[in-house]
Amino acid sequence: MNDTTRDPCAAPKGLLSVTEARQRIDALIAPIRGIEQLPIRSALGRILAAPVISTIDVPPYTNSAMDGYALRGADLPSSDSARLRVIGRAMAGTPFAGQINAGEAVRIMTGAAMPAGADTVLMQERVQVDGEHIVVSQGHKPGENVRQAGEDMAVGSTVLEPGKHLLPAELGVLASLGIAEVRVQRLLRVAFFSTGDELKSLGEPLEAGQIYDSNRYTLHGMLARLGVELLDLGVIRDDRDAIRRAFHDAAANADVVITSGGVSVGEADFVKQTLDELGRVDFWKIAMKPGKPLAFGKVGAAMFFGLPGNPVSVMATFYLFVQPALQKLMGMRATPSLTLRVPCAVTLKKDIGRTDFQRGILHTDAHGVLTVTTSGRQGSHVLTSMSKSNCFIVLPAESTGAQAGEWVEVLPFAGLI
Ligand code: AMP
Ligand code: MG
Repeated sequence: MNDTTRDPCAAPKGLLSVTEARQRIDALIAPIRGIEQLPIRSALGRILAAPVISTIDVPPYTNSAMDGYALRGADLPSSDSARLRVIGRAMAGTPFAGQINAGEAVRIMTGAAMPAGADTVLMQERVQVDGEHIVVSQGHKPGENVRQAGEDMAVGSTVLEPGKHLLPAELGVLASLGIAEVRVQRLLRVAFFSTGDELKSLGEPLEAGQIYDSNRYTLHGMLARLGVELLDLGVIRDDRDAIRRAFHDAAANADVVITSGGVSVGEADFVKQTLDELGRVDFWKIAMKPGKPLAFGKVGAAMFFGLPGNPVSVMATFYLFVQPALQKLMGMRATPSLTLRVPCAVTLKKDIGRTDFQRGILHTDAHGVLTVTTSGRQGSHVLTSMSKSNCFIVLPAESTGAQAGEWVEVLPFAGLI
């Protein structure tokens, strides 16, 4: 028996692993209720609330995939060539009214309805035109270059499921079904504020010992990208009454309350005291770097996330805990994980004990290989590390880092951060 054998994912004593914290949050989150009907353009970024069932075939009619000649597959020659008479034209929007019989063809454009009797289109480059006739050689397949009605979306089929995030492709899909309005989940309302006596808002001069509040801006950006209704409550002083008022205000007006700062251990702050009074909140120490302290629970009827104060920790904990929780609250279906394994171009060092989320730059190297490198300085206050990077390099709790050339796990920011 070897008592030094440990689960590589386990967190050291007293700390919660990232996975466990995510599971605990997920267990307490249920999608909000409330549906609205929106014109499809306004539904961009929203979450579908009801299935979309096709009432038409798309394409609505069988049509040509090429500019060329429509004909009967039965007329294709199996040896030598065949000579067919061109009896008319079929244009996109102006179908050929007649019927194609044996030995006949119709000039046809991409998207034009297939004439009655025809089942095959030959590309114009593949036939020889001879006055009123075309000469067709062997080597074609019956049915080629034809798009069947309903091939993309068949009448009666479920095209989009509830929980679908509506992105540009979905707007197009809805439009091709002739659907002008859709039922979507109402917007999630998220209130947020910063806490700290050292924080100044933009436009105020900095005095000794003061810094500008940046967390409200990264939070604003990340929340806006997620597509929620924002309620920015500003900077709240480390003052018992001010914090109590802010929590009351936030919880009364929002589905979710997010704060930054004032959740670290040992801090003589009023966030914890106020939450002990107003809410049911757990204060966790998570085995991750950056971002060890995290508070999670409920304040009134609102879900609450108390993020750490350090700017990089705010973004990392938002990405790992808040984003998936908000997406579930918004009614979004879980999306597949985008974790990658790639070689690391440089040697990275870390301390044993917590999972590192180092900031990295994912890129294609000179040999065309997807590779990650570090963005440099890694302190949890170094916000430019987020700006320079496009991914987190995830180094497991038990590791001491990675050697150059070693494969590492990478979490792309994927549009949110
Ligand atoms: P705290 O968790 O309140 O102890 O804050 C940890 C660190 O983050 C301190 O250096 C704070 O000054 C800094 N910090 C807290 N809130 C913000 C904020 N809104 N913007 C920038 N830095 C902050
Ligand atoms: Mg503070």
